[in-house]
Amino acid sequence: MEVIKVIPSGYCKGVINAINKVKKAIKDYPDKQIYILGMLVHNKYVVGGFELFNVITLADKNKTKEQLLDEIDDGVVVFTAHGIDPKIKQKALDKGLIVVDATCCDVTKNANLCIQHLNEGYDVAYIGKKNHPESEAVLALDERIHLITNIQDVQNSNILNDKILITNQTTMSINDIEQIIKALLVKYPLAKVVEEICSATRTRQQAVKELEGFDTLIVVGDPNSNNTTQLANIGKQAKIKNIYKIENSLELTSINLDNISKVAVTSGASTPGYLTQQVIDYLKTRDEKYLNVDLEKILDL
Ligand code: SF4
Repeated sequence: MEVIKVIPSGYCKGVINAINKVKKAIKDYPDKQIYILGMLVHNKYVVGGFELFNVITLADKNKTKEQLLDEIDDGVVVFTAHGIDPKIKQKALDKGLIVVDATCCDVTKNANLCIQHLNEGYDVAYIGKKNHPESEAVLALDERIHLITNIQDVQNSNILNDKILITNQTTMSINDIEQIIKALLVKYPLAKVVEEICSATRTRQQAVKELEGFDTLIVVGDPNSNNTTQLANIGKQAKIKNIYKIENSLELTSINLDNISKVAVTSGASTPGYLTQQVIDYLKTRDEKYLNVDLEKILDL
């Protein structure tokens, strides 16, 4: 079987920065309990890797970030790469917690763009995913930021301002966003557009788009990772016949590999390189030693 590793794929600069910040906090505060508010990146094995260092991830879909913060009385709190509502960051500081902010610089840039335009009297049509931590953090900035998740939301929206900025969550699909922006411009022809898909997301999606005509694509990543899901969607739109989304090499055993002669392997920006390498090594060798997940290797960069 010919195995092609799609380039670029895997960890982006924002994820590497976030992991390094937590590793540094472990070294800097050996006597403090370290908490991560939400999943540092959307991959449960990264959470498991940090648990080996006694780092606690506070993540509960039924609780707000503020409610999770209320559970911390002492120690270090890490805010994830997806960004954080400034009011919650201030609350953590007011509680006397040591704050480590791992917000990605591309997320900060997008939040600043929104703030700048709000200050200039704009409303913001923000294209993003509902309940995603990045969109939640941006929406918390001001009620004049309106979440648009799909074309239907465009039809239902009613932004009563002559000045409208259209922008977006950094990990959206390069294909889908075009359609939503077009629809917004039909409804709000004078709106200003600043498309903000980050370069890591764009180049990973573009690399999958260029696989058009391929028979088989394996996407390695967590089912809750937006950028991983988008890679599979882009693959479908590029008419790749068979697309398998898997979390780790063990899941390869439920795929019939015998009829596959050529396969491309990609992974989301939140997928540890170690997990992707296990998949590639198993596909190349069928050696069962690659059918495992060693948490001690998960945080290797
Ligand atoms: S996907 Fe983009 S915005 Fe998100 S952490 Fe990575 S580089 Fe930053």
